[in-house]
Parts: sequence; structure tokens; C-alpha cells
Amino acid sequence: MNILVINCGSSSLKYQLIDINTKNVLSSGICDRIYIDGSVIKHKAGSKKMQKETPMPDHKSAIKLVFDALLDSEYGVIKSLDEIKAIGHRVVHGGEHFFKSVLINDDVLGKIRDCSDLAPLHNPAHIMGIEACRDLLPKIPQVAVFDTAFHSSIPKKAYLYALPYEWYEKYKVRKYGFHGTSHSFVSKRTAEFLGLDINNSKIITCHLGNGSSICAVKDGKSIDTSMGLTPLEGIAMGTRSGDIDPAVIQYIAKKENLNIDEILNILNKKSGVLGISKLSSDFRDLLKADEEGNELAKLARGVFAYRVAKYIGSYMAAMNGIDAVAFCAGVGENAVYIRGMIVEHLGFLGVKLDKEVNVNTVGTEAIISTPDSNVKVCVIPTNEELVIAQDTYDIVKGL
Ligand code: ADP
Repeated sequence: MNILVINCGSSSLKYQLIDINTKNVLSSGICDRIYIDGSVIKHKAGSKKMQKETPMPDHKSAIKLVFDALLDSEYGVIKSLDEIKAIGHRVVHGGEHFFKSVLINDDVLGKIRDCSDLAPLHNPAHIMGIEACRDLLPKIPQVAVFDTAFHSSIPKKAYLYALPYEWYEKYKVRKYGFHGTSHSFVSKRTAEFLGLDINNSKIITCHLGNGSSICAVKDGKSIDTSMGLTPLEGIAMGTRSGDIDPAVIQYIAKKENLNIDEILNILNKKSGVLGISKLSSDFRDLLKADEEGNELAKLARGVFAYRVAKYIGSYMAAMNGIDAVAFCAGVGENAVYIRGMIVEHLGFLGVKLDKEVNVNTVGTEAIISTPDSNVKVCVIPTNEELVIAQDTYDIVKGL
């Protein structure tokens, strides 16, 4: 049974067609620069690759191109759209409406729309993608899989901000957390990989990518996570500031004569390791520059690693212990020196890194701590698309 997984951003659309029986990715790709000049589809099916620049005035036209690519006689993988049994959509924000994945109907679509205020860059794009798929394939069931759902187990003392309670009552201002599909997948896989009983385990998952978040997973449930009402809270990221004193906003507004929207834009897009290094949000660039003696690149890497280590430390306290730390996503799976810098901070616990295994582990599963380390540290590549496909299948199989 083939499930199409769609992740719609405001100007891009990523997709994967997954055979849920074998878990194989039959085809994957991205439509980039939707609405913008130079729109391009990049499509992959096994070893075959196709790239085509073609106008994409909206998400519907992008999805049509995806279907055309999947059906193409040369680089397609299906003969008819009937071979797609269901579509699973990544949805960033489910607010307090959704604690698990759901079959999409008008009511669900309305509630995703209600959450648009909380994720103005993401939810409207997801809605466009869902509506386009409904128009083009009205008979195929569609499922929404929420980034926030895995975090619905976070207790109130952890998700409530110390702000006037009316803001929570009136506007649902609270921590929601993101990357839930990744933290869920990686924590489960970590337990399996290490032979731990997930129902009696304390695992800290570090999803370190362009956007990064840390999650405390106790007995298989998220009990705290570093991102908040929006993905801006938490550790320093590629371009996001992570935690700051909120008074910075007023201070800089006055100094630089900027309004709140302008400052938020800087906190989201021009801060993090890009802001500190003045160079790049990409850890590959920062490593190269650091090796060439660039002090700000070195500092940015140090700030990032220190912040991650601090969150790991605080989540050990939140769970009253720790069995394992797992790294995933672009930086977590590949940036061996960053992992080393983070683990160095945990030496006081008797955490010992196997340096050789660490430097040789790039994008694969491995235990990177030594056998006598008090806490296991591992790399577990994430697979959010597979979680979305599996949840979608579980929901539609009985229909
Ligand atoms: P996204 O949050 O966009 O899904 P990813 O999880 O793909 O991001 O992570 C992308 C980031 O991973 C890049 O910006 C880069 O900093 C980092 N990265 C990817 N490959 C490597 C590598 N080989 N070494 C160091 N960092 C890497």
C-alpha cells in the first residue's frame, strides 16, 4: 500500500511516496519557490533523478506537478493515481485540539485553521496543500500528523509560562513544542536499539537541524521540550535565537527604531549561529571557518553546544535521571565535532565518548559512548516521513 507524505511550507512542498508494507521510499522530491520566479521541481525515484524549472503559481499547481512526476513513464513509479491509497500531511501546529493524528474532514480543517495564529508561517501553507489534494483527489483519504501531538503529555507545570493566567485562559499561551514526530520516532528507536524497556526509560532526544529542539522522554512520553508557543524558544539554532531575555526586544526596538514584527523577524531569521558568526547558519561552513581561525565561527559553535548541554542537564533534573541521550537530524547525525563538544559538558556524570566511533558515525545508527559510560549516547537518524506514513496507514487501513 502506497502512502504519499506531503510537507507543505509557505514556498516549498516536500514529498515522499512510501510503500508502507516494505517501508521503502519509492520516490521523493521537492517543489521549491512556489509563487516565486524560478520555481523548480526536483524529483527522485531510485537512482533516477529529474529536475525541471516550471511555473508554480500556487500549491495546487505544485501538487499537480508531483502527480505528473509520479506517473511519468520515464522517472515515475506508479501507473495510476489509484495506487496512492492515502495522503499524510505534516501539520506543524495542532494547538490544544489534537493529541494524535486524525483523518481530515471539514471540522479538522477548521481547527487547523484556528491554529494559524499560532503558526502563521506554517498552518496556512498546510491548509493550501490539504485543499489542493482534496480538489485533485477527492476520494483519497487524507490524514493530518501534528508536530505538536507527541508533546500533549507534557504536564501543566512544564507547559505553563509564568505569565498572567488569563493569557493562557483567553489565548492558550503555553508551551506546545515541535518536532514531535521526530522525538517520538527517535525515542522509540533508541529504546529498541539499546534494549531498554520504553515504558521504564528516561531518554533525552536532541533533534539538531536547521531548527533544533531537545525533548525529555520519560516512559515513552514527552514530559518537556525546548521549543515553546512557537519554534523560537529553546536552544540557539541555525538562524533562530532560542531563549533570550524578552526585555531585549524593547531595548533593541528603541536603539534601532524597529517594531516588534521587525525584531521577531531578526530573532527568527538572522540570529542563532548565523547571527553570532556573521557568516552562516550551516555547521559545515562554521567548522571550515573555525578551522581557518575564524573566532566568531568558533564562538557560535561553542554557544550552540553549551546551550544543548544545558538543556540536557536540566532535563536530567526534570526526569530525575537519565538512561540515554540520542542525537538526530542534520547536525545531530553528521556534525561529529559538535556532538563531541556537547558530550564533553556531561563528563561530570561519567558520560564517556568513544571518540573513534563518534568521528566515524555520520548519518548512521551507532552507540558513540564507551561501554563503561554511565549513560549511553547514541546517534539515531530520524525519519519523520515514515512516522507520518505509518500513522496515516494506521488510520486509513480500517476505512
Ligand atoms: P531541517 O531543520 O531543515 O530539516 P536538517 O535536519 O536537514 O534541517 O539539518 C540541516 C543542517 O544540518 C544544515 O544546515 C547543516 O548545518 C547541518 N549539516 C548537514 N550535513 C552536515 C555535515 N555533514 N556536517 C555538519 N553539519 C551538517
